[in-house]
Amino acid sequence: MRRLSTELASGQVPAVLQLPPLAAIAGLKHGFSTLTLGSMARIVGGADSRTPARRALAEELTLPPENVVTAGAVHGSRVARVDEPQDLVPQTDGLVTDRVGLGLLVTAADCYPVLLFDPVRRAVGLAHAGWRGTAAGIAAKVVGTLALHFGSRPADLLAGLGPGICGRCYQVPPEVAAHFERRFVRPAATPSRFQLDLRAANRRHLERAGVLPNQVFEHPACTYESSFLASHRRRPDGSRCACLVALA
Ligand SMILES: [Zn+2]
Repeated sequence: MRRLSTELASGQVPAVLQLPPLAAIAGLKHGFSTLTLGSMARIVGGADSRTPARRALAEELTLPPENVVTAGAVHGSRVARVDEPQDLVPQTDGLVTDRVGLGLLVTAADCYPVLLFDPVRRAVGLAHAGWRGTAAGIAAKVVGTLALHFGSRPADLLAGLGPGICGRCYQVPPEVAAHFERRFVRPAATPSRFQLDLRAANRRHLERAGVLPNQVFEHPACTYESSFLASHRRRPDGSRCACLVALA
């Protein structure tokens, strides 16, 4: 995107990346952190998941850090509704809410953040989609959870796919590739390895769930190829970036 490449060309990585069509919406706050803000990983042994880096991300979006709720992110497909601030929702990879100013946060390092916004019913959802969550259709489960709790109609939804590892860089073994439709998988140059396009697979799940194709927006950055983003595959040091979304 033009904004991203301009900023990178000038040597300055922004603290937060955004999807321009969603950034233009007054009723929505969203952002994908870069490593400029530091790692968004939970501090091992820390009592509070609201780390200094996560607080800084909340402040970038002018959200009170105390209002941020984090999904536990266990590479599952459970989606939970949250109505009030709490530290962490364990055993959960997706969150939805209709509360203004309540921030939903997931962390990732190659996995895809998938955010959803319903401008009609005024609700948001967010998922952490690695290969397991994607194979389990977590993006569609968030769509279904928004419909169940808030009456959201899929055709009203706007969706955003955050930075993640691209379909050229993400190489997986056959047993992982077997979970996906052939269209998302291509043989890699390395024997017995396959290139898996998680971004396209998540888009497909959203569209099958009824989200309109022209209302799904993708951030073009690949985590593996971008030194300013956390990538477990490129550098498995435990660093994470985060996506934060809230109704405004
Ligand atoms: Zn890539």
